[in-house]
Amino acid sequence: MNSNSTPHPIVTDSLPPWQEILANTIRTTDKLCRLLEIDRQALPDTHPLVRQFPVRVPAPYLAKIKKGDPEDPLLQQVFPDIAEANEAPGYSADPLQESAHNPQPGILHKYKGRALLIATSSCAVHCRYCFRRHFPYSDNPPGKEGWKTSLDYIRQDTSIQEVIFSGGDPLTLPDSYLQWYLYEISTIPHVTRIRLHTRLPVMIPQRINKRLCELLENSRFQTILVLHSNHPQELDDETNSACQALKAAGVTLLNQSVLLKGVNDDADTLIRLSERLFAGGVMPYYLHLMDRVEGGAHFTVSDYDAGRLLAAMQQNLPGYLVPKLVREEPGEKSKTVLL
Ligand SMILES: *Cc1c(COP(=O)(O)O)cnc(C)c1O
Ligand code: SF4
Repeated sequence: MNSNSTPHPIVTDSLPPWQEILANTIRTTDKLCRLLEIDRQALPDTHPLVRQFPVRVPAPYLAKIKKGDPEDPLLQQVFPDIAEANEAPGYSADPLQESAHNPQPGILHKYKGRALLIATSSCAVHCRYCFRRHFPYSDNPPGKEGWKTSLDYIRQDTSIQEVIFSGGDPLTLPDSYLQWYLYEISTIPHVTRIRLHTRLPVMIPQRINKRLCELLENSRFQTILVLHSNHPQELDDETNSACQALKAAGVTLLNQSVLLKGVNDDADTLIRLSERLFAGGVMPYYLHLMDRVEGGAHFTVSDYDAGRLLAAMQQNLPGYLVPKLVREEPGEKSKTVLL
């Protein structure tokens, strides 16, 4: 090897198993249908909505989807349905008007005391209901220069106590990058909490490896991981073990779900989700009403039905297993709680 070339931190001969899985996600509807043995009408891969936001499913998640069932609740979340092409009034590309809170690339600052760091634009999965599906990621560049600017923003605003790693999915970043971030943020005295919003323990449970747990355990921060799981079928033994490992590393585990038509809009599913989460050491935190994102209208559950579902949860679960039913309203300084 040329002695002048330093190997790039990601491209090595042997990737850690989780990065191998991440590099080999399923990226076409055809392949998804073939592997799952289903025949279902899809929005073609050439449609602008799919080209902009292609199919993306990692193998461990695929394994949780029932073969031969076109209605599987996990499949619904990743399948480009023809309904995405329906025009729906009031549904837009930037439903939360995030562009207005994007003071500079890489940072979203709309909540008091908390800043969202767009650490990466990449996700292990593409969720068809995602409100970030149209987000201008190209204006939010990764690369150490962009990251330094974001860190400077946090450094100069002493009201920021909590840094929320968002994205994209922050756990798609290699451990070495996270380590660098945590180190840099640890030099900012007013930051006391770190939060990660992620679907990786569900999508690629192997991601929660020893090195990551050690990194989180050894940092000076209080660490919160907000899992994004929508269905009890997503929480298999591997995901539960990943959560247990995080818990053992001192991480507070919460879950945020999105209420989705055809996925989890029935009381029994939501009750089982809360119970299954708690069995894995995760507290239900938020149940989110869908953001009105273009292409996602067919997932919408009405406020009335959402209220009824919440009431059913309250009647059947201890209070600590009932998440808050919330909606994100553009321009508000916090989520809006619906009763
Ligand atoms: C709501 C939300 C936050 C801020 O949430 P709080 O828990 O209310 O502080 C951060 N990140 C994401 C992705 C959210 O949805
Ligand atoms: S993992 Fe989160 S950010 Fe990524 S596509 Fe799914 S919902 Fe969107």
